Amino acid sequence: MPCRSKHERVVSVPGFERNAWQRWYLWLLLAMLVLALLGTVVWLAGRHEVEQAQAALDRDTTDAVADLRASLQRNIQSLRALRLPAQNAPGDAAWPPEAAALLREHREMVRLERRDAGLMPLAVLETPYRMRIFDKVTRGSEQNDVALACTTARKLVAPAYSPSHYVPMPEGGGIELMELCVPVEGGYLVATYGLRDMLTELLGPTLARGQEVAFAEPDGTRLAIIGVRRRAGTRIFTSQQLVDLPGVTLMLRVDGWRAAPDIFPNLLTALVTAISIALVSVLVLLARDTRRRLKAEFELAETLAFRKAMEDSVITGLRARDLRGRLTYVNPAFCEMVGFSAEELVAVHGETAGSESGHRDAPGMPEAPYWPTELAHEYQQRQAHRLAGGMPPREGFESVFMRKDGSRFPVLIFEAPLLNAQRVQTGWMSAFIDVSEQRRIEELSRASQERLQASARLATVGEMASLLSHELAQPLAAIASYASGSLNLLEGGADRGDADRGAVIDTNVEVAMAVRRIAEQADRAGQVIRSVHDFVRRRDRTREAVAPRALIDAVLPLVQLQARKLSVRIDMALEDTLPAVLCDRTLVEQVLLNLARNAMQAMDMPELVERVLQLRVLLAGGTDSRDGYSNGIARASEVRRWVEFSVADIGSGISKDVEERLFTPFFTTRADGMGLGLSLCRTVVEQHGGALVYAPHRPRGTVFRFTLPAA
Ligand code: ADP
Repeated sequence: MPCRSKHERVVSVPGFERNAWQRWYLWLLLAMLVLALLGTVVWLAGRHEVEQAQAALDRDTTDAVADLRASLQRNIQSLRALRLPAQNAPGDAAWPPEAAALLREHREMVRLERRDAGLMPLAVLETPYRMRIFDKVTRGSEQNDVALACTTARKLVAPAYSPSHYVPMPEGGGIELMELCVPVEGGYLVATYGLRDMLTELLGPTLARGQEVAFAEPDGTRLAIIGVRRRAGTRIFTSQQLVDLPGVTLMLRVDGWRAAPDIFPNLLTALVTAISIALVSVLVLLARDTRRRLKAEFELAETLAFRKAMEDSVITGLRARDLRGRLTYVNPAFCEMVGFSAEELVAVHGETAGSESGHRDAPGMPEAPYWPTELAHEYQQRQAHRLAGGMPPREGFESVFMRKDGSRFPVLIFEAPLLNAQRVQTGWMSAFIDVSEQRRIEELSRASQERLQASARLATVGEMASLLSHELAQPLAAIASYASGSLNLLEGGADRGDADRGAVIDTNVEVAMAVRRIAEQADRAGQVIRSVHDFVRRRDRTREAVAPRALIDAVLPLVQLQARKLSVRIDMALEDTLPAVLCDRTLVEQVLLNLARNAMQAMDMPELVERVLQLRVLLAGGTDSRDGYSNGIARASEVRRWVEFSVADIGSGISKDVEERLFTPFFTTRADGMGLGLSLCRTVVEQHGGALVYAPHRPRGTVFRFTLPAA
C-alpha cells in the first residue's frame, strides 16, 4: 500500500504564501488606522485652538461689558456729586467749575443739561472737544429720548438711559447718542453720551487692538464702531454680550480675527509631530522585524521541507517511539516495508497504546501491527527492556517483521535514544533495513558453495580411485590366496578319508585360521571403502565441538593411501591437552585432506630420497611462533583460545608467480588439478572465524597453518 502520494513529497509551502498576504493586509490596515488617528488628532487640535480663541474673545468681551458698566456707574456718581447752584442762576453760573472739568475728563460725555421737573431745559454745558451738536431748535427732536429716559428714572427713582438715537451733523455725517437722566433736586441732570466716544474712551485702550468693537442692535445693525479693519485671509471670531442698563439694552459686539489656525496648530505641532515620528519609526521597525521574521520563517519552512523530503525519499525505514513505546512517527519507506499506512500505524497504534495502558501491568506496551503473532511476546519483552533503559547494540540487531498480508521478512534494526534540543531523551529512534534480499543472496551463495564443496569432494574421490584400486588389490589378493589355500586343505583332507582322524582335525584348524584371515582382509577392504564413503557422505551442516584428534583420524586413512603410493612418511604430533574445536567437521576434514594432498604432491620429485609430511596440532599462542598471522587473530586470541593446525612438507616450495594466484579459484599447476582446493580451504576457515596462512618451511618446502576456535 503506498504510504503517500508522490505530490505530497514536492517541496512547497503554499500556506506560507497565503499567510504572507494576510500579513500585508494587516499592515495596510494598521498604517491606515495610524493615518486616521493622526488626522483626527490634527483636526481635534485645530478645533481646540479655535475654541480657545473663541473662549478668549468671549472672556474679553465679558470683561469689557463689566468695565463699561463700572465706568458708567462711576460717571453717575460723579454727576451726582456735582454741587449744582440754584435753578435760576443765569448762563455759566448755572454750572459749577467741576462740571466743565468732568466734561474735559470724560470725553464720552458730549453735553450736560439741566432740566426742571417739567423737563424744560434750564442750562446746557457742551464738551470742549466737539462742535455744538444741538441748537435750541434741533434739540426739540431729542425731547422724546430725554423724556423717555427721565420717565424711566422717575419710575425707578434712579438714573436711567434712553435708547440711542442718531443726530445728523451740520457738516455731514452724524453721531449716535444716548441720554442719561439723573434725577436731582427740583429737576433732572441729563448727560448725553456719544456711543462711539464711549467705545473709544471706556473700552478702546484694552479692546480695540486687533479687533473691531461695536455697539449693535439685536438685528446686527452697527450703531458705533471702533477698531481696525479685518485683514484678508483671516478667520473671524465674533462675541456678543448684552449691556443691560436701566432703560436701555445695548449689544456689545466684538469681532476678532486672527490667521486661520494652521493645519498643525502651534500648540500641538511639536507633540503631534514627535508622536507621529515615533509612531512611524515604530512602524518601520516593526515592518523590518516582520520582514526578518518572514525570512526566518521561510528559511525554516524550506529547511523543514528539505528534511521532510529527505525523510520521505530515504529508502531506510524510520520510526520514532515515545517513552511509553507508542509510535509517533514513521516515514514512507517504513510504511512501504510493512504495508501499513502511516495513519494505521501512528494513530491506531497510539490510541491502542493509550487505551490499553490503563489496564495493563506494563503501561504502554502495545502490540505493533507488524509484529508476527508468534513473536509478539518476545518483542514485547524486548521493548520493555528498551523502555526500562536497556541500550540496544550499536551494530544493530536482526529481527523478523510481518507485512500486512501476513508474510514475514527479516529486518536489520538500528536503535538510538531520541534526544530533544535540551538533550533530554523523549523516546527512541529506529532505522530499518529490509534484509530479505541479502538473506536470499546469502542463501544462494551458501548453497552454491556447498555444491562446489561437494563436487570438490567428489573430484578428490575420483582422483583417489586409482589409489583405492591399488589399496584394495592387496586385501583382495590375500583373500584369494587364503581361499585357494583353504580349498587345497579341504581337498587334501577328503582324499585321506576317515583313515587319518588326527590329520583331519589339523586340516580343520588350518582352514578355520585361513577363513579368519579372509574375514580380516575383507574387513580391511571394507574399512578402506568405508573411509572413502564417510568422507563423501553428506552430513548435517552443524557446528559442533570436535576433538582435533577425531578430525585427524577421520582423514588419516585417506592420507595414508596416497602416502603409501608416494612413499611419504607421516610425522604426526598432537599436544596432549588440546581443547575441542567448534567446527563443521565435514568441511574441516576436507581442508585437512586438501592441504595434506597438496603437501604430498609437492614432494613427488624423483630426486627426493626421504619424503616427510608433518601434521601438527597445538594451542595457538603456545610455543610455536605466530609469524604471519594477522593482528586480528593475535588480538582475538587474547579473548578466546584458538587451536592451530599445521601441515608442512619438504617439497618444491612456492615460487613468486604461483604465490600471487595461489588462492585464485581454478588456479593449478597440475595437469589433473582442479585449482579449487586452496580457495575453498580459505573460505571454510574464514567462515569459522579463523585464518589460513602459509610460509616457507625450513630448510625447504612449505608450511600451511590454519586456526579454529576452541569450543
Ligand atoms: P590443485 O591441488 O587442484 O592444483 P589447489 O588449489 O589445491 O589446487 O592448489 C593450487 C596450486 O597451488 C597447486 O597446483 C600447486 O601449484 C600450488 N600448491 C599448493 N600447495 C602447495 C605446496 N604445499 N607446495 C607447493 N605448491 C603448492
